Amino acid sequence: MAENYDVIIIGSGPGGYVAAVRASQLGLKTAIVEREHLGGICLNWGCIPTKALLRSAEVLDHANHAKDYGLVLEGKMSADVKAVVARSRGVSARLNGGVGFLMKKNKVDVIWGEAKITKPGEIVVGKSSKPVVEPQNPVPKNVKGEGTYTAKHIIIATGARPRALPGIEPDGKLIWTYFEAMKPAALPKSLIVIGSGAIGIEFASFYRSMGVDVTVVEVMPTIMPVEDVEVTAIARKQLEKRGMKILTSAKITKVEKAADSLTAHVETADGKVQQITADRMISAVGVQGNIENLGLEAVGVKTDRGCVVIDGYGKTNIAGIYAIGDVAGPPMLAHKAEHEGVVCVEKIAGLPNVHATDKGKVPGCTYCHPQVASVGLTEAKAKEAGRDIRVGRFSFAANGKAIALGEDQGLCKVIFDKKTGELLGAHMVGAEVTELIQGFVVAMNLETTEEELMHTIFPHPTVSETMKEAVLDAYGRVLNA
Ligand SMILES: Cc1cc2nc3c(=O)[nH]c(=O)nc-3n(C[C@H](O)[C@H](O)[C@H](O)COP(=O)(O)OP(=O)(O)OC[C@H]3O[C@@H](n4cnc5c(N)ncnc54)[C@H](O)[C@@H]3O)c2cc1C
Repeated sequence: MAENYDVIIIGSGPGGYVAAVRASQLGLKTAIVEREHLGGICLNWGCIPTKALLRSAEVLDHANHAKDYGLVLEGKMSADVKAVVARSRGVSARLNGGVGFLMKKNKVDVIWGEAKITKPGEIVVGKSSKPVVEPQNPVPKNVKGEGTYTAKHIIIATGARPRALPGIEPDGKLIWTYFEAMKPAALPKSLIVIGSGAIGIEFASFYRSMGVDVTVVEVMPTIMPVEDVEVTAIARKQLEKRGMKILTSAKITKVEKAADSLTAHVETADGKVQQITADRMISAVGVQGNIENLGLEAVGVKTDRGCVVIDGYGKTNIAGIYAIGDVAGPPMLAHKAEHEGVVCVEKIAGLPNVHATDKGKVPGCTYCHPQVASVGLTEAKAKEAGRDIRVGRFSFAANGKAIALGEDQGLCKVIFDKKTGELLGAHMVGAEVTELIQGFVVAMNLETTEEELMHTIFPHPTVSETMKEAVLDAYGRVLNA
């Protein structure tokens, strides 16, 4: 007889494994199915290994600017890319093992293989179509194997994979996805990055720090198109100052491949076409949900534009089937996946007062140099929504800590509702802003107004003081500018 669970989760990324831990905490008999790597894209090929690469880049940048801090380091520093990649893979491996530990500690059964939903309440786990290739991420011990399993609740947490543009399909050699970009055998001399979303810009920033000649091509008028334009203008200026070439309102119409290089035909807004030759190209034009081969059509689960359609609690249109994380649509971020996982199982367990996920309060962070972070509405979106707003700004050039750090190029910008004082959005560019934005996320979640923010004491000297000053600026009370 098929082994029965309260909850089976398909996919062990940050959505799936966090949902499994919470389900187990709530007393639900839980299993998680994984076909490739515990921790999903985030731990193995996404958030974590990129941050490890970017940390190496940051240390190298600092070393190369040691003189600015009165330090003497002889000669130009350079990277041993094999060691940089090995460190990044090691960081991933450690966290991958950590997920295995968490499953064991929380008595979550791990089932190894590829899951397909055969009917509501039943899955079949077959042989994985994605055998483990990373020696650092082995199949964990004591996993259950192929077979039929039943559960009252099935949560789809199968994540997403790179999207490709027609004619510019990644080939793993000249045109990379984030998989190849994450572990280059050697550094290319030149690189074209298509797409300036978080993934594209982070890789562009990393490779530029490594000394690669980088050109970013973005079809939209600004880089990081979902971010506030004032913030991205500052980020662009800084990235260009670091030697990155950036083309916006630009489209790659054709790619010609040679033996060890390629030439992109890039059409700009004025209709002109220029040819750019580079050793390698990274395609970073977004991701698409893993909805195939899960039995969704047969069971009747509704999908839209490559993602499973859910309500605020992860419920699909079919009773007993749920979806969370990237496969359930944007924003495709690990913390959104985790939060949806917790909300989904708490609702399944019948907890009172479970709040639906509010996508308007999901922060976004880009870990390029300089960093960019935001939550809520941009100024343009607030205006588009017809809100009467007050905007406050504070430059890092007037912040003592930022100057002491040698990082005085940055901005904090806040947007309030004029009538109610509700904080509608916050946008930051500069040093450590990915750590700072959480202050505004908490504020928004507590429905804080300008009054409470102005009466909050921020420690001195910190870059966080720019947050308070921006709030004060919105009300004509700025102190240090
Ligand atoms: C280069 C890069 C950098 C990123 N950086 C960040 C960042 O800094 N911050 C951030 O918030 N987000 C970042 N992301 C996005 C983040 O990785 C994803 O949002 C997150 O991993 C989504 O989690 P998930 O649980 O929905 O899916 P995933 O992490 O994709 O996990 C899904 C899992 O399901 C498994 N699976 C799929 N189908 C089946 C099946 N049929 N049977 C069994 N198992 C299956 C897969 O093997 C996978 O392990 C980044 C992504 C990339 C690519």
